[in-house]
Amino acid sequence: MAERESMEYDVVIVGAGPAGLAAAIRLKQLAAEHQHEVSVCVLEKGSEVGAHIMSGAVMEPRALNELFPDWKALGAPLNTPAQDDRFLFLTHNKAYRLPTPPQMHNEGNYIVSLGNVCRWLAQQAESLGVEIYPGFAAAEVLYAEGAVDLETGAEVLQGILDGAGDRTAVLAMGSPYPILDYPKIRTYVCAFSSVSTSERATVRALLGEIPFKGRLPVTLPGVARVGDGLESTTH
Ligand SMILES: Cc1cc2nc3c(=O)[nH]c(=O)nc-3n(C[C@H](O)[C@H](O)[C@H](O)COP(=O)(O)OP(=O)(O)OC[C@H]3O[C@@H](n4cnc5c(N)ncnc54)[C@H](O)[C@@H]3O)c2cc1C
Repeated sequence: MAERESMEYDVVIVGAGPAGLAAAIRLKQLAAEHQHEVSVCVLEKGSEVGAHIMSGAVMEPRALNELFPDWKALGAPLNTPAQDDRFLFLTHNKAYRLPTPPQMHNEGNYIVSLGNVCRWLAQQAESLGVEIYPGFAAAEVLYAEGAVDLETGAEVLQGILDGAGDRTAVLAMGSPYPILDYPKIRTYVCAFSSVSTSERATVRALLGEIPFKGRLPVTLPGVARVGDGLESTTH
């Protein structure tokens, strides 16, 4: 059989959706910050970037602010700010307006075509040196004795925890259930949201500046005494 042509990259990302493109861009930004050469390629099964992106979306621009603080000047296609929220209970022939839950407020968000956002992200990625190949579906991961060794984030973390001593604690942000993935660990800390107030409160509690408070609202099988959680809004 004729030898197949192959191209080598340091990082291959499958899928030119928002996640894949943002990862490619961030990798290139970090490489530039550290004066490091990293070759990155993105494979996209759609005929062009955005072709398989289904969602029109209300987009919260926080991640974009972090990736490109000057996204407005760079011409990102976020042109329609959300102006009004209506939270409705629909019956067959009526709509009852309800108070909008705080986490569903869209102030500061934009109504976008996610396909267009992806096309714009792809341009930014290419200008940073990312190579994007639309029309190529990744079919399988090839393992070649030690040359490609894929571990999931959970496996990597488990490896670190296996080597850690008794004084290690696992911190669960947002949901307490992930702690069940690490049964060998003796101490868990749960914070019920990953908003910045909760993050700050968690760090302050871990440093002993404020007490842990609140109660865990669920029972976790196999976890005998879970202890108290943190109330994010109080700090
Ligand atoms: C109808 C709908 C409405 C939504 N509304 C909102 C909203 O209002 N606000 C919001 O924040 N989110 C919304 N979402 C969710 C949002 O679209 C997703 O969270 C987001 O697109 C996920 O990005 P991603 O990059 O992880 O994956 P995707 O956007 O799914 O991108 C994955 C990409 O990978 C490609 N791909 C997949 N497999 C392969 C392969 N084997 N080889 C090569 N390429 C491959 C696909 O073609 C695609 O381009 C909505 C989703 C849908 C479906």
